[in-house]
Amino acid sequence: MKYYILFGPPGAGKGTQAKKIITKFNYLHLSTGDLLRGEIKKGSKLGKNAAFIIEQGNLVPDEIVADMIKKQFEAHKNDVDGFLLDGFPRTKKQAVMLDKILFEMNQEVTQILSLHLDDKYIFDRIFHRAQIEGRKDDTKTEVIQNRIDTYHSKTEPLISYYKKQDKYFEIDGLGTIDEIFEKISKIF
Ligand code: AMP
Repeated sequence: MKYYILFGPPGAGKGTQAKKIITKFNYLHLSTGDLLRGEIKKGSKLGKNAAFIIEQGNLVPDEIVADMIKKQFEAHKNDVDGFLLDGFPRTKKQAVMLDKILFEMNQEVTQILSLHLDDKYIFDRIFHRAQIEGRKDDTKTEVIQNRIDTYHSKTEPLISYYKKQDKYFEIDGLGTIDEIFEKISKIF
């Protein structure tokens, strides 16, 4: 079983690329952001608790997202050849939790594919996407800035975590959707 992580700042195009990857490979796209938005839509207790945190551009507790991911692995392990994680892990603690979950299943992270994008492009991309998708967390300037700052302070340190494990691959996130997909496909 393959366990890939699609990594990068918000707005780097992870969701778009993930959709293309899973149509080419028999993987399941697991986006914690999508799963959390699904919980909010359902009106579940988890969704209600997460909604305010998400609207502020902060991170929901590590245990909640790790548990969601674990349940998805268990539910779909016989349906697919692999999992494509998008938006998880987002903190060092989540990365350690993921390693533990996989270790208990006798598995490990296969590779990290990182879409690199400079801050100057991130803001516009997020803002533009919000117009299309109507996302509440991406319409306010200060919330977008908080999401970018949170990425730098809490998520970016994961790069060295995975570099040390020799699993980190970086791709320039600037280019057309197809150009970037071609580069990703070569790594796969
Ligand atoms: P995304 O769609 O990946 O940009 O996620 C939207 C929001 O959901 C984030 O700003 C966080 O509030 C929350 N979220 C998604 N994934 C995680 C995660 N792995 N850890 C904590 N919060 C998350």
